[in-house]
Amino acid sequence: MPELTRDTIVAFLGDIFARRGGEEYLGEPVTMAQHMLQGATFAQQQGFSEEIIVAALLHDIGHFTSEFGTYNPDDTQDRHHEDAGAAVLGAFFPTLVTDCVRYHVAAKRYLCATQPSYFERLSDASVHSLNLQGGPMSAAEVAAFSANPNLAEIIQVRHLDEAGKVADMETPDFAHFAPMVQRVVDRHLKGTP
Ligand code: FE
Repeated sequence: MPELTRDTIVAFLGDIFARRGGEEYLGEPVTMAQHMLQGATFAQQQGFSEEIIVAALLHDIGHFTSEFGTYNPDDTQDRHHEDAGAAVLGAFFPTLVTDCVRYHVAAKRYLCATQPSYFERLSDASVHSLNLQGGPMSAAEVAAFSANPNLAEIIQVRHLDEAGKVADMETPDFAHFAPMVQRVVDRHLKGTP
C-alpha cells in the first residue's frame, strides 16, 4: 500500500471502488461498489450529515484493504473486515465515521438482541454471517455497546447497510461523493500539519 496522505486518501479510495468495486457481494444481488454507493445515496436522499453519508459509502471498505478477502458463504470464521476498514480510515476520518465502520457488524448483533423484528429483515447472507459473527449480543454486550456515544449514528449506518442491497438501482458513482469525502477529511484534519 502506498504512503497515504490527506491529499491522496480520496483518490486511493476511489481507485479501490474503480478496480475492485465490481466484485460480487456474495449472496446479495449487488456488487460491493453498488452496495456501498446505494447506502450513501439513501443517506444523502434522507438528508443525513456528510459524515454519515461518507460512513455508509465506506463501511465495507475493509473488504478490499485487508488480506482477508470478501465474504464467502463457505466461510466458517468471521473475517473481521470491519476492523480492517476502520484501521485504514483512522488516520483521516473522525471517530464518528470510524466507529460506524468498526461497529457496523456489532450493530447487527446489537439490533438482533434488542429488536426482535430486526432479525426478520435480514437477508439470508446476513443471517449466515450473523452466526459467524457470534449471533445476537448478550445482555452484558448490549450494555457495553449502548455506552458508545456514537450509538445512534452506528445504528443509522447499519440500517443504510441493510438498505443497500437493491438489484438494478441507479446511483451516482464514487466521483459524485469524492468532494464530500475530502471535506470530511479536511474538517477532521483542520489545524494539523
Ligand atoms: Fe455492508
